[in-house]
Amino acid sequence: MSQHLYQFCPRCAHLLEDRLLAGKSRRSCPSCGFLHFPDPKVAVVGLIEAERQILLVRRAVEPGCGLWALPGGYMDADELPAAALQREVAEEAGMAVAVGELLDIFPMVNHGGASLGIVLAFHGWPIEPSSVPVAADDADAAEWFHAETLPSTLAFASTQRLLTRWCDQQKSSLLARRQAATPH
Ligand SMILES: [Zn+2]
Repeated sequence: MSQHLYQFCPRCAHLLEDRLLAGKSRRSCPSCGFLHFPDPKVAVVGLIEAERQILLVRRAVEPGCGLWALPGGYMDADELPAAALQREVAEEAGMAVAVGELLDIFPMVNHGGASLGIVLAFHGWPIEPSSVPVAADDADAAEWFHAETLPSTLAFASTQRLLTRWCDQQKSSLLARRQAATPH
């Protein structure tokens, strides 16, 4: 039995046992009938963009302590993803943001590679265009970065992947603008 599984019933404190249900072993309570279905954790991150810059926060907690990452965090049980992202960006960067399209869904894994859940990545932008980020909570710094000035080491593979894609988009839109400005 893996360590994270319940040993005692969270409802009645009776010793749990394994029960095979639809081909899967579930922790179950022979006394009150409780069945434990482990749920995936859901986290949200934001690619918050303004004036060709992207908002990053430096993490003050593990995992990735001291490294830059996209603002974000775990979704609460009573929240929808956009509201969770707005709360996290307000907490970590002191900024009110609007949340746009879903950009990607990543698997969330621990250092051992075990699946913990999923990460939803959204596009977003500050409600006040000239917002200055103020770090707090899980972040000890929050700053705007241009594609050319991004930190070389980032906290998570998902952050790296989203930012690489964003940088590629920046380069191609810059190229398109240059071509449009060139007289024919
Ligand atoms: Zn029970």
